[in-house]
Amino acid sequence: MKDVLVIGGGVAGIQAALDLAEKGVKVHLVERTPSIGGRMAQLDKTFPTMDCSICILAPKMADCADHPNIIMHTCSEVAGLQGEAGDFRATVLKHARHVDASKCTGCGKCAEVCRLKGRIPNEFDFGLRKRGAIYLPFLQAVPRVMNIDSKKCIFLTKGKCGEKQLCKEACERGAIDFDQKDETVTLDVGAVIVATGFDLFDPSGMFEYGYGRFQNVRTAMEYERLICASGPTGGHLEVEPTKEHPGSMAFIQCVGARDLRLSPFCCSVCCMYATKEAVLVKEHYPDTDCTIFNVDMRALGKGFEEFVERARDEYGVRFLRARPGQVTEDPATKRLTVWYEDPASGKVTSMEADMVVLATALVPGAGVAQLAKALGIELDESAFFKVRDPLMSPVESTRPGVFIAGYCETPKDIPESVAQASGAAARAFEVLKRKGGAAHA
Ligand code: FAD
Ligand code: SF4
Ligand code: SF4
Repeated sequence: MKDVLVIGGGVAGIQAALDLAEKGVKVHLVERTPSIGGRMAQLDKTFPTMDCSICILAPKMADCADHPNIIMHTCSEVAGLQGEAGDFRATVLKHARHVDASKCTGCGKCAEVCRLKGRIPNEFDFGLRKRGAIYLPFLQAVPRVMNIDSKKCIFLTKGKCGEKQLCKEACERGAIDFDQKDETVTLDVGAVIVATGFDLFDPSGMFEYGYGRFQNVRTAMEYERLICASGPTGGHLEVEPTKEHPGSMAFIQCVGARDLRLSPFCCSVCCMYATKEAVLVKEHYPDTDCTIFNVDMRALGKGFEEFVERARDEYGVRFLRARPGQVTEDPATKRLTVWYEDPASGKVTSMEADMVVLATALVPGAGVAQLAKALGIELDESAFFKVRDPLMSPVESTRPGVFIAGYCETPKDIPESVAQASGAAARAFEVLKRKGGAAHA
């Protein structure tokens, strides 16, 4: 039986890879970043069960690393796909890590001595924590192999790093390899599953909410890192400049989403994750006042409406149907004011807050057009990967043998992403069994 190529190592890609591997199929899991895990690895808890996100995901990530049928290609991208369902040849570009994965144990001795230690914003924590030029993206990263940032490493950019490369000297395993080059490999696969997820809309271009100018305005994803016990502040929410926990917080929904100027569609998960995030504040600091400014609450899922009711009735979270027009800051105290139209009176009114959290739009990834071209598949009008028929064939792309799963098909939460991934894996398996037959039944 032929192998399967899974593109994207988020929760959807991981699920699809594990499903197929369990059926005895060899899977190539291609992930662009140095670790699998995707967005779920960055979350603190997940709605509506409030389970620890990484506690659920980490064992699955480890299963991928350990499974004899899964070959992980991290720091890699797919550049082309030739052939047809049942008999594809995929071209995969593997970027050099400059660390030999077969030798590195992830001990971290090299990172301790890197001359740039603590100087480079860590992507995983949105710059809230700093790393060196050689780094592990996050504590639970899989594979547990260091990565050298070739754009920042002094030796790779200048040809000399002090008197000697301290990282290389510290590595007892001889794993650091500055001569490692990017390589291109060709994989023979019978089917492809695309699970490349989403990108976060950057609100710094939106003047009205002061993101990037006001220190106490955060995005929801930054908030996930801040409230997380293994995050940059050990789970403590701190307001600038006092470093005390916030006395009042405002969550603003649909920032850049459902907005014809920016991203017209609903991201489908933000109402629920904002409710979760407000409940988390209340669990950490019961005296903190929390208000969620929403266009309308979209609690579409089993137990979701009940979760919103619990947030309101048991935790005292206030839900206000209003779309704030502006956030301003008192330059002396850094305290924020949220300006909005009071839904009852229709008058412009305001609320003071120590911290504002923006639920920014979740948008198709920056490279989707390029990937669609490389794979020979189509995008829909919002730049999500198009499926042949959302009702009858919700996992089939416009090219036979290429399937879609997770957020990159249309906005969806983790359980829906996982369910779709299992559907895509089942359809890919059918193609392999038919060997060379058409994917579309
Ligand atoms: P992703 O998690 O985005 O993973 C995609 C992977 O593909 C990434 O690893 C990415 O690096 C990789 N990739 C991208 N492009 C390429 C490429 N060209 N080649 C190779 N690899 C590529 N959902 C819940 O159910 N509960 C919650 O509590 C919850 N909270 C959330 C809180 C916030 C702030 C946000 C923003 C979302 C939340 N969600 C929640 C939604 C959840 O994050 C998504 O449903 C889920 O991450 C979708 O998984 P995915 O695998 O489709 O995509
Ligand atoms: Fe340890 Fe060497 Fe790997 Fe660094 S590169 S984590 S020193 S084995
Ligand atoms: Fe850090 Fe220098 Fe090693 Fe590069 S060569 S990883 S900058 S110590």
